[in-house]
Amino acid sequence: MSSPFHTLYDSTRGSDVGRELGEAIEAGLAQDGGLFLPRTMPRIEMDAISTDSFVDMSLDVMSHWLSGTEFRDTWRGIVDDALAFPVPIVPVDEDLFVCELFHGPTLSFKDFGARTMARLLGDRLGRTGESRVILVATSGDTGSAVADGFAGIPGIQVVLLYPGGGVSEVQERQLIAKRPGVHPFRVKGAFDDCQKLVKAAFDHPAWQGIPLSTANSINIARLLPQMLYYWWSVLNITRGAGLAAPSICVPSGNLGNLTAGVFAHMSGMPVAGFRAAHNANDFFPNYVAGKDAAFAATVKTLSNAMDVGAPSNFERLKTLLPGERLKALIQSDTTSDDETLETMRSVFTSTGYLADPHTAVGIHSVMEARKARHLEGPCVVMSTAHPAKFPDVCQQATGIQPDEPSRLADLVNAPTEWTDIEPDIDLLASHVRERISGAI
Ligand SMILES: *Cc1c(COP(=O)(O)O)cnc(C)c1O
Repeated sequence: MSSPFHTLYDSTRGSDVGRELGEAIEAGLAQDGGLFLPRTMPRIEMDAISTDSFVDMSLDVMSHWLSGTEFRDTWRGIVDDALAFPVPIVPVDEDLFVCELFHGPTLSFKDFGARTMARLLGDRLGRTGESRVILVATSGDTGSAVADGFAGIPGIQVVLLYPGGGVSEVQERQLIAKRPGVHPFRVKGAFDDCQKLVKAAFDHPAWQGIPLSTANSINIARLLPQMLYYWWSVLNITRGAGLAAPSICVPSGNLGNLTAGVFAHMSGMPVAGFRAAHNANDFFPNYVAGKDAAFAATVKTLSNAMDVGAPSNFERLKTLLPGERLKALIQSDTTSDDETLETMRSVFTSTGYLADPHTAVGIHSVMEARKARHLEGPCVVMSTAHPAKFPDVCQQATGIQPDEPSRLADLVNAPTEWTDIEPDIDLLASHVRERISGAI
């Protein structure tokens, strides 16, 4: 038998190179400030992949990435446990499909990455006997996915910082539900204040001795499982429906999701092309159009999980696809809030399908590209969140409120726990020490 595929991981900035996967996961950001990328990609034969179920397919794809690593004895159980939820592909019209990535515990696609990363990191810490405090600032989806994914993992405590009054009622309910090892802090301030606290903590004397780590989409462990639903979509469209390899449209913010799609393509998954659908935060569409593009301050929109002025994974995409290759593979455009609402309304009226505002940005992008004849043939839109996370926007667009899935409704009566705090780095450190003493 041939030995399994193995790759080292190198920083996009070229100094911190030659790391094993487990090291790259534990480090998060590379020491030179760059992001880790696999040095080589496995070559995955489409015909050899099972489509019996999402988990069966995931095991076939991930065996290429994980069976040659320190996770060789544990990865199957990890993938099986992390990703045991449905991933339906819903036809909206003859050639347009929505791949619903929101059937995990916290109703956004971030469950794929957070749940898998938590288990891989927990597995490694179990072997080294170390522990970690995961510190995250969140304005919504990331925080709840990380809280759910990392809760109860031995060796890991989670500290969540969210802006009081800056998240929706549904989102807050998901953040403060009492979970083992999870410590939410409601910060008097905006999301930027939370973000500043996280950045400051990493080299502040008050935090010395607290083994800090983070879990945002710079971590390579979040990107690996996000490849899986790209494979799932392409296999279902080609093998299942007998159509040509589709274009794939990704509602984008930090560009982590899109980067995972590019990983899948570079390891053998056929695709007609990618579309990065952005809201008014238009750095990437400008870049792809060859205009002057600079990172900018964040603009607030209805698709708030995509409100990112400086997408962190751009650095990965540029390194993966140098020169003109990026623009040959990826198209991109922007959708305004008015267009988002209008798309939600018209899709709902004509097909009965209720898309959340992020998915609507993706659908609008596809509709515009079709009109301009930039896009033909089958297309899959990645549906990144459940509409029930955005009841007010759904109401505004369509006049109806989506049904709450039971895992959201159940949270109404669930016990809650949080700490109110001023944005003060010393104060936060002493609270955190108190909370984690004994656990770490
Ligand atoms: C995080 C998020 C996005 C953006 O994903 P990136 O990987 O940051 O591009 C899109 N939609 C929803 C609902 C999200 O939570």
